[in-house]
Amino acid sequence: MEPMAEKLGVGDNMIPVLIVGAGPYGLSLANYMSELGLDFKIIGKPMELWRNHTFTDASLRSEMATSEIAHPHRTYSIQNFRAKNGLPIGISSERIGVKEYRQYVEWVLAQVPYDIQPEYLANLSKKKSYFQAELESGAVLEAKQVVIATGVAHHLNVPTEFSEASDVIHSYYTQEIEALQGKRVLVVGAGQSAAEAMEVCRKNDNQVHWYARKEPRFYSEPLDLPKWIFNLVVKSAGLFRRLPHRLVQYLFSIFSATTMTPDHKIKLADVDRFSSLPDLNNYDHVISATGYNYTLNHMSFLAEDLRNSLEMRAAMPRIDKNFMSSMRDLYFIGPSTEMFFGPPMKFMIGSQYVAPRLSKLLAR
Ligand SMILES: Cc1cc2nc3c(=O)[nH]c(=O)nc-3n(C[C@H](O)[C@H](O)[C@H](O)COP(=O)(O)OP(=O)(O)OC[C@H]3O[C@@H](n4cnc5c(N)ncnc54)[C@H](O)[C@@H]3O)c2cc1C
Repeated sequence: MEPMAEKLGVGDNMIPVLIVGAGPYGLSLANYMSELGLDFKIIGKPMELWRNHTFTDASLRSEMATSEIAHPHRTYSIQNFRAKNGLPIGISSERIGVKEYRQYVEWVLAQVPYDIQPEYLANLSKKKSYFQAELESGAVLEAKQVVIATGVAHHLNVPTEFSEASDVIHSYYTQEIEALQGKRVLVVGAGQSAAEAMEVCRKNDNQVHWYARKEPRFYSEPLDLPKWIFNLVVKSAGLFRRLPHRLVQYLFSIFSATTMTPDHKIKLADVDRFSSLPDLNNYDHVISATGYNYTLNHMSFLAEDLRNSLEMRAAMPRIDKNFMSSMRDLYFIGPSTEMFFGPPMKFMIGSQYVAPRLSKLLAR
């Protein structure tokens, strides 16, 4: 039998809201809930993507103002972080380096007024009127409502055409890529991660080639739009689901096409680039900078019968305008909801739309 001490949240201690994921979306929601005085628990490895899976010498793709961890009073703005640490506050449209962003993340994590349980959910199942969450440590939690904010980690896309390669590394594993020295490397992809991997590999004296089927598009913000249209797109995310299908397709084609920031234009000008797949036997490593493929079945931490009972749209659970799936009290937020709330959800800016709204709904 489960030791009682490990069964947190049972009975009277039932957790009202369990937030699964401590990235920008989970933390932003937690900040809003905390300000409203609501009871919740948040689990996940805090800012895991940003601490461990971004290239150390890269810069963020988004501007400073659209990269902050949301808070009702903008307590955790990057400019606040700079001011509190005696740094020049700069301008909000600046793009900052990953090193500084990591310092900012540590600053935020040291201040948040709630605990984050730094571990993964292993299995979530639905009981009659609540959810049971088994964590990797074996601890069991019981929660009335659950918000899934697990981000990118479960959805790495590696095309099968690279199965012949001796070693394939997805660009998510930045630390492995940073460790490659003097190797023969093929980087695959036409987006920012490919550009950053190319740069790291060149710096580390690898012999590196680039395979990209399409031309990269260069942009200055994740959504390359005049500021007022950009803000409108974010504020109207709730209307996205009502747009005609053809318009949605068009918006995806302009917003979601993998593109890269202009600083890579010069850096990539003289690299050996192929538009058809070269012989993989000529490489020690293939870096698959081929993005993310959001599919419910990759979320194996959700019990199979729970997954099977959800109404789907394409490969992900259908969610309503309140972020709720067809299963009452089970919510999804973050990049996997792009098809319902539009391209801002792929970026941190989307959390500034989600957190204020969902926190109020969960308070009811
Ligand atoms: C390399 C890279 C660079 C990017 N650069 C930018 C940028 O410059 N600007 C921008 O706006 N966006 C950028 N993005 C997009 C990025 O996905 C979002 O900005 C943002 O990180 C998404 O936040 P999230 O909270 O949904 O997910 P994530 O940041 O992926 O965080 C997910 C959280 O869930 C936790 N988790 C995962 N699985 C489990 C589990 N089973 N149980 C419990 N917890 C779990 C993780 O530990 C983590 O805490 C980038 C993405 C990548 C991959």
